[in-house]
Amino acid sequence: MTSPTSQLLLEDHPRASVDRALRARASVERSGFVPPTFADGVIFAQDIEDVVLTMKLASKYGVRIVPRGAGTGLAAGSCAQEGEVVLDLSAMNQILSIDPVQGIATVQPGVINAAVNQAAEEYNLFYAPDPASTAICSIGGNIATNAGGMWCAKYGVTRESVLSLLVVLPDGQLLRTGRRTIKGVAGYDMNALMIGSEGTLGIVVEAVLRLRPKPKHTATLVAYFPDEVAAAAAASAVSAAGLTPSVLELMDGKTLLAVDSAMGTEHHNSGGALLLAQTDGYGADLEMQALELAIKPFAEHCELATTEQHAQALIEARRQAIPSMEKLGTVSICDIGVPRNRLAEAIAGLQRIEAERGVSIFIIAHAADGNLHPIIVVPAGQSIISGAPKLALADMFYLAQELGGTLTGEHGIGLLKQDWLPEELGETSLQLQRRLRKVFDPQGILNPGKAI
Ligand SMILES: Cc1cc2nc3c(=O)[nH]c(=O)nc-3n(C[C@H](O)[C@H](O)[C@H](O)COP(=O)(O)OP(=O)(O)OC[C@H]3O[C@@H](n4cnc5c(N)ncnc54)[C@H](O)[C@@H]3O)c2cc1C
Repeated sequence: MTSPTSQLLLEDHPRASVDRALRARASVERSGFVPPTFADGVIFAQDIEDVVLTMKLASKYGVRIVPRGAGTGLAAGSCAQEGEVVLDLSAMNQILSIDPVQGIATVQPGVINAAVNQAAEEYNLFYAPDPASTAICSIGGNIATNAGGMWCAKYGVTRESVLSLLVVLPDGQLLRTGRRTIKGVAGYDMNALMIGSEGTLGIVVEAVLRLRPKPKHTATLVAYFPDEVAAAAAASAVSAAGLTPSVLELMDGKTLLAVDSAMGTEHHNSGGALLLAQTDGYGADLEMQALELAIKPFAEHCELATTEQHAQALIEARRQAIPSMEKLGTVSICDIGVPRNRLAEAIAGLQRIEAERGVSIFIIAHAADGNLHPIIVVPAGQSIISGAPKLALADMFYLAQELGGTLTGEHGIGLLKQDWLPEELGETSLQLQRRLRKVFDPQGILNPGKAI
């Protein structure tokens, strides 16, 4: 049932659709969470004016708006239901300009992450935050979740690569945050505040991204270990040795089997867990030698990629980890972060949870950041938000807390992690953040129920 207020907005907006199939598609993302009902309608924004009009009408009629990029989120941040209207930004997908001298790209929010890198390549530049979903996720969604990726080990997450934003506030006003210069400290850092705010403070309609010179040289190594705890200990040894690989990814034995089965590779024949490492820059080979030395005591076998194709195939195996698991059933992707020296303890703890709760947990990790993705896979159609999977998720969050970590490293809180947020933030911080949200959105119309 469309709410009367949504109906008013949808009638007044030229880009609105109430088509059932479009509403159904726009109400879910990739977390596996299925809302009980669909959104009342979808606005397909083509330009900034469409977004401004949406928020002006939403304020006028008191309609709840759910911003949506490419819908690849894993925390139910862009899921929507009855009484809500989805604002789909995927058609705002132009790269507006690239300034190779300043090393910046100005883009619309619906641009696919990988497209920025394709465009930057022409100038020998690259955009560092590269989620494994690079081919399917949008820059607007990356900014809203402060997304991470493989290269973030060295270059930092999205917040380190966004200089300035143009944002439509909940009342329809336009706000420019940040600046186009590399440095600048005038006023509070509204840019940093927007990044990671999960579409609750404003809607990103344009972004100025920082590009970096493409490394002249890279070295890539794959190492196989008897088990996951040994691989994690090796990753911690890399950090302890003061090395800064541009990639340091861990995959457990179950993930290797899933990838092998989906891609026809044979990683699991070489070991029970894998670390994929890449170094870059003029000293790439030297740094790789030091890295190999650090991990060798823990490894069964190390192999340097001898060709660019070999290196790409290894990277692709990691990118395909989640899609490979999705072939096995419904996945629930957790996203805890722990101090880098406690990775092995985290993995041992996850294995304990798996045994105690009787669920199947696959583990991949951005190991250099201490960011683990324990992934529960249940038979297709089975609920991931109740019973043993939910209990296992709760155990994982408490495990992260116990180890001095966090319940989300890069996917955000969305709807799915609300239960555990108060414990992580504490009452003072939570109340202050809720008051801050009210300053931006006094009517509570932007992505209600999500984030905080
Ligand atoms: C196979 C796979 C691999 C993944 N790997 C990674 C990974 O390595 N690292 C990682 O960080 N994530 C990863 N993800 C999760 C996901 O891709 C990221 O969270 C991504 O940033 C979401 O982008 P999106 O465009 O799909 O956003 P959506 O899913 O559409 O939205 C995500 C959030 O952003 C908000 N939002 C979207 N656009 C805007 C906007 N313009 N303005 C304001 N708010 C907005 C939404 O309301 C929602 O809260 C992966 C997902 C999949 C399916």
